[in-house]
Amino acid sequence: MLKSPAGRIGIMGGTFDPIHYGHLFAAAETADELKLDKVIFVPTGAPPHKKYKEMAGAIERYEMTLLAITGNERFEISRTETDRLGLSYTLDTLTAMRAMYPQSELFFITGVDAILDIDKWKNPFEITLMCTIAVVKRPGYDNARLCKLPGEIRSSVYVVGTPMLDISATDIRHRVSAGRGVRYLMPESVRAYIEKNGLYSIMDGESI
Ligand code: ATP
Ligand code: MG
Repeated sequence: MLKSPAGRIGIMGGTFDPIHYGHLFAAAETADELKLDKVIFVPTGAPPHKKYKEMAGAIERYEMTLLAITGNERFEISRTETDRLGLSYTLDTLTAMRAMYPQSELFFITGVDAILDIDKWKNPFEITLMCTIAVVKRPGYDNARLCKLPGEIRSSVYVVGTPMLDISATDIRHRVSAGRGVRYLMPESVRAYIEKNGLYSIMDGESI
């Protein structure tokens, strides 16, 4: 069968507040293992399950993501969620990607923490019909619970074998607000952006 130029496309959604090496390594490793032609990072606009008033703005998260992927020719970024007003749902993003890449095979890359919440997603079953869900394990999460996902979801799930990095954006925000260093947890360009723009520094510890 003929393949389109970008035949296998990974989609990495996230708040990326901020983006860190955990995300970048997960995307790169999944791309290698599943032989993806590219991975498109899709920073969320206003995510449905987060207390978004404490987050960096959509433009700042988009810019940090753009800085982070610069230099990797397999990585791209999409504004599909950040340009949309209101809530962003994975299903809407996949629908937009399907329209943009009608011939491609789509892989939605997500961490085990996010997939275990799939019952809170909009129309999870429809999502499974549109893509393969490439799940990366995360240290500190109960990866074995993947077996408990409903069968119709599980049949669309591919579990990436490589162990991932124990880095989270929550921890990074805490560290910045506490004045601790975040060097080596993310590309230096992103760290410098956080510093220059004063992100995460004035934060009420209770509300993150
Ligand atoms: P937060 O702590 O704010 O939730 P996060 O580090 O979990 O941030 P998100 O933007 O919520 O980052 O995650 C986007 C996607 O990347 C999710 O599917 C999440 O599971 C995955 N992910 C985040 N961190 C890692 C990591 N260290 N290794 C593998 N996957 C990750
Ligand atoms: Mg998260």
